[in-house]
Amino acid sequence: MVIPVLLALSLLWTAQAGASQGTAAKPAAAVDQVALLVRAIEKAAAAGDGTAIRALAADESAASDLASALTVPAPSRIVIHERDRTELATGRQRLLLEVFWERGLEGRLGTWVVDVATGAGAARIAAATRVTHVTGLYRLALDGAKQYDVRDLTVEAPDLALHLKSGSAFVAETPEGVTAIVLLGSGTMRFSPQLPAERTQVKIFSNSEVLDAPFDAVFMRLRPEDFAEKFPAAALVPREVSPRDLQRATQVFDDYVGRTLQINLSDLSPDRWSITPQPGDLIAEVRTRNLGSLTYTRSRNDAEDITLFDRRRRRNISVYASPQKLATRGRFYSEDDLVDYDVLAYELDVIITPDRETIQGNARMKVKVRAAATTTLNLRLQEDLVVSGVYSPDFGRLLHLRVVNQNALIVSLPEALPHGSELWLSILYSGPMPAQDLDREAINIEQDPQETVVLPPEPRYLYSNRGYWYPQSVVTDYATARVSVSVPEQYDVIATGRPAGPPGPAPGVTGEGERPRRRFVFESDRPVRYLACVVSRLRDVASRRMQTGEPAGGVQLQVQANPRQVARARNTTDRAVEIFEFYASLVGAAPYPSFTLGFTERETPGGHSPAYFAVVDQPQQSGLSWRNDPVNFDSYPQFFMAHELAHQWWGQAVGWKNYHEQWLSEGFAQYFATLYAERKLAPGVLNTVLRRMRETAIDDSDKGPIYLGYRLGHIQADARIFRSIVYNKSAMVLHMLRRSIGDEAFFAGVRTFYTDWQYRKAGTDDLMKVMEKASKRDLSEFFDAWIFGERIPTVRFSHRTDGPALVLRLEQIGAPMPVPIGVRLQYESGKTETVIVQAHGRITEHAVQLREPLRSAVANADFGALVTIVR
Ligand SMILES: [Zn+2]
Repeated sequence: MVIPVLLALSLLWTAQAGASQGTAAKPAAAVDQVALLVRAIEKAAAAGDGTAIRALAADESAASDLASALTVPAPSRIVIHERDRTELATGRQRLLLEVFWERGLEGRLGTWVVDVATGAGAARIAAATRVTHVTGLYRLALDGAKQYDVRDLTVEAPDLALHLKSGSAFVAETPEGVTAIVLLGSGTMRFSPQLPAERTQVKIFSNSEVLDAPFDAVFMRLRPEDFAEKFPAAALVPREVSPRDLQRATQVFDDYVGRTLQINLSDLSPDRWSITPQPGDLIAEVRTRNLGSLTYTRSRNDAEDITLFDRRRRRNISVYASPQKLATRGRFYSEDDLVDYDVLAYELDVIITPDRETIQGNARMKVKVRAAATTTLNLRLQEDLVVSGVYSPDFGRLLHLRVVNQNALIVSLPEALPHGSELWLSILYSGPMPAQDLDREAINIEQDPQETVVLPPEPRYLYSNRGYWYPQSVVTDYATARVSVSVPEQYDVIATGRPAGPPGPAPGVTGEGERPRRRFVFESDRPVRYLACVVSRLRDVASRRMQTGEPAGGVQLQVQANPRQVARARNTTDRAVEIFEFYASLVGAAPYPSFTLGFTERETPGGHSPAYFAVVDQPQQSGLSWRNDPVNFDSYPQFFMAHELAHQWWGQAVGWKNYHEQWLSEGFAQYFATLYAERKLAPGVLNTVLRRMRETAIDDSDKGPIYLGYRLGHIQADARIFRSIVYNKSAMVLHMLRRSIGDEAFFAGVRTFYTDWQYRKAGTDDLMKVMEKASKRDLSEFFDAWIFGERIPTVRFSHRTDGPALVLRLEQIGAPMPVPIGVRLQYESGKTETVIVQAHGRITEHAVQLREPLRSAVANADFGALVTIVR
């Protein structure tokens, strides 16, 4: 995870120049003249000579704005790059210039539209208009002339206190004041979140619910106007600079300054330029003595405004909303709330060379402004990918910036676009792009030394939601798409969307020594959360039409497999069809009109299911001990596939509002796979599945509640904990919900939930509302206990006969929770029946009329409840 840091670019906009709609200029003799003119402007600007710039214009006034912007005050360095050139109808050339102006610590970035007249003689400036202007960039450096003695300093932020009794401080300033400070000396850090789930995570990290750590250095970034409040003058006393202290402080500063709030300006400046935190925001990098570097961030605009990050192991320890934040947004939130725009459609064209781990792309995306108005679009794109240009048909070439360590791409618009505006962007990019793993591959493998892998698995390259292989929103965002992927001819491609015909030769790929390529095209006419593709050697195995309620004509299934997996894939096709059709019957529809199932190879099983397709890795060897994994069910070998197929409905068609809500996706996928076992497999299978789910969920329940999402097991780097809770406990909770409200209400609720939330992101509260309506019951206690709480109830079970009745007694030890428990009654005749008792409150008694003599009564014999039964 990248720690969330808000950008604090202060963007000022001036009048917008008309969009350049001309045709591309032909390289002619005039080209040199124009380039010479640009060099002349740059040279005059570097000399601070505004008069010389004005003299380059056809008439004095044409370049006066340009001249004063570039030379008042005079820069210490200036770089002007021509980014775009078009020929206007008038015969003039229209240039787009990016200008980076530096003076001392300060940098300014601007784009200018400059019209150039190229008649007889030299090229002249005919008009010049500033389009964008970015200020507030600083090349920060410690002030070597200032040192302070620290006297009993305590820096406080929500749930954080940094105390330094005595030590030294050095600062870095902008003209507005101090924005960075280095503290040296032996101090203490205390981090004490209030929320129980967060305290559990802090305890997992530091062995104590309150983190107390000695430190020897702190680097802090804040807004200059917040400095005096955090650092009272009495605590910082100026003194003479000690060169040794300055050297130590400089080391700390250099170590941390580049890690956050840094802009990479690529060819405009080799330096890293800093931006300033937002008012009230704070980043504290604390070099602790025994826990490595910990980063505390307060970021007021984020839905969860407080984070603590372990730099050494790149883990989020805490991520949560402060009480002030909760007061403004309530308990639930959608990650969409803070995004200024919505992506409506993609047209993605990529060339992938998997063996070299490179990608080259042209992404066109249609965005619609959600905010009241916006002047920038924050996108995500893998950090190593180089953006060669961002264009819009309306505005021409747009200024873009990369933020260091954030996979961020910021696109500046030349004017504020009001709410509802739509805009196409075209982004050209290329660079290294490693493939990602399938889900659930972080299985701890202890390989039997006797067993060696004879055949290496067929290479398979996945590009999906864990790497930003195409420009996208900072949140998952439903959009339609057209994806075209060109790969070397020996490979095949499965990607998001319905295949639009067989692959064809890839046009225009004729690099030096390039092998021929094939181009695969896919169309998604229904919205998808993200785009994905798999590149591998694949064979066609089967093609079927599956029966579903919606879409009316059914869903077209294509089965493909690595060459060695063809036979297995063929044998599994009927099963896949049966599972898919079963799910459609439960929900009444299938979300996407086509589905491709790919069988690939790996040492351990795993799967991934983006919209329109799924890939399932078949384990090549059976001797690997992934058997202990929480999601391995020996008696149900198709469980993985069944889980992945269910993701078409849960996780893809119905998304989740933020990471806390991932249980809706994994829990439903896991539970649908369980329902398939219940309805279609041998009677004992359901029991073994529930038994294993219950056992693993209970074992790991003290690691945190379901609502913690990916953070379960994150600090420990143990994905099994995540699977035990987010997969298995969630599925068990859905099973218990069903047993609490009955099959009729539960399945009606599932259908409504699916229909209401198709192609949208849902939250726990949305599911609760639907289920409350379907069952006409208040379920808040149930959801509070099972989704937000981590406790597993302990119940003392006993029974007694009372005349003709059998009284089942359930006594909860500890705070009671709502839990439906199946009690299996076995009669003397050998007949058995299971009675569901809704344990609620401390003691629940439930009477059953006995029709024949009872032999035994066993609570939770079917493992259907997450409960520990004691006598
Ligand atoms: Zn899953």
